[in-house]
Amino acid sequence: MKALLLTGREQFELVERELPVPEDHEVEVKVEAVAICRTDAKMYASGHRDLVMPRVLGHEVCGTIDEAPGRLFALWPGRACGTCSACQSGRENLCPEITITGFHRDGGFAERLMVPRSSLIEVPKGISPSMAALAEPFACAIHGVKQSSARRADRVLISGAGTLGILLALAAFNRGAHVVLTDPDAHKLARSAAFRNRYAVGAEEVDVRGSFDIVFNATASADTLVSGIRRLAPGGRYCLFSGLTGVPENPVTIFSELHYRELELIGSYGCTRQEIREALRLLARYGHDLDFLIEHTITLEEVPSAMKQLLAGTGFRTIVIFEGSMH
Ligand SMILES: [Zn+2]
Ligand SMILES: [Zn+2]
Repeated sequence: MKALLLTGREQFELVERELPVPEDHEVEVKVEAVAICRTDAKMYASGHRDLVMPRVLGHEVCGTIDEAPGRLFALWPGRACGTCSACQSGRENLCPEITITGFHRDGGFAERLMVPRSSLIEVPKGISPSMAALAEPFACAIHGVKQSSARRADRVLISGAGTLGILLALAAFNRGAHVVLTDPDAHKLARSAAFRNRYAVGAEEVDVRGSFDIVFNATASADTLVSGIRRLAPGGRYCLFSGLTGVPENPVTIFSELHYRELELIGSYGCTRQEIREALRLLARYGHDLDFLIEHTITLEEVPSAMKQLLAGTGFRTIVIFEGSMH
């Protein structure tokens, strides 16, 4: 089978290889669709804390298994120990033993991959493989919204109108929050106009201090952290959803804001199996309004040449599909 191997910085190799014989807890998955996320592009350009090379990337995967013909499965990319205190309290994404498909283990930029059987979640009928490949990023957004404890009527600001910004907006809307989405790139923001109209998501230009209960960053810019914290109402919560690529210029200002106005800073990283399930349920409900997030479908061979554009981060999702897939 074909697999795309990342062998070093900006070095892909298309290889022909066999999968190992599955262990008892494992099952071989035939990939139907795998979405490329900005993390993949960043790993290609500059590595990642959790990446061990050489590696087949791809953690937003959906596929089929030989023993269950015609049924589609989404993948929870983690594999956790199941016994530590994080796992026992339902926070398996924080398991110190966690390994992640596409980071520590070979992922979905291949015709087939081996995964823990317990990491597969069946996709409800009517959801296409490309849409099901969005279950993982959507689950991460659902996780972030849970971390923020967003409730009905909360005023929520999301910085960054890319795929994750949109999915965060939808997850917050689903909890009854009033959502505003911003992006310095007016073009990008304009592309979600139909979605925003439908879900009453505002796109506010004015920067008013203290106007939101919760702010998320769906962009790596450190400036959005500073401006987002300013825009929180007293007692508000900032959810650090995307990792930052730089540090804020004057961190003392941030700490003063947290101190005097009793703000909270909350982290969010990854998702749990349960949240993949919730994402699939929400995709069944809202997926018909998310088609615009699937911007390109390409073949495995086209992935290397697509990386540069993906790094720029200006578009929505690019999905890799395979010959003879369920599309
Ligand atoms: Zn991702
Ligand atoms: Zn654990």
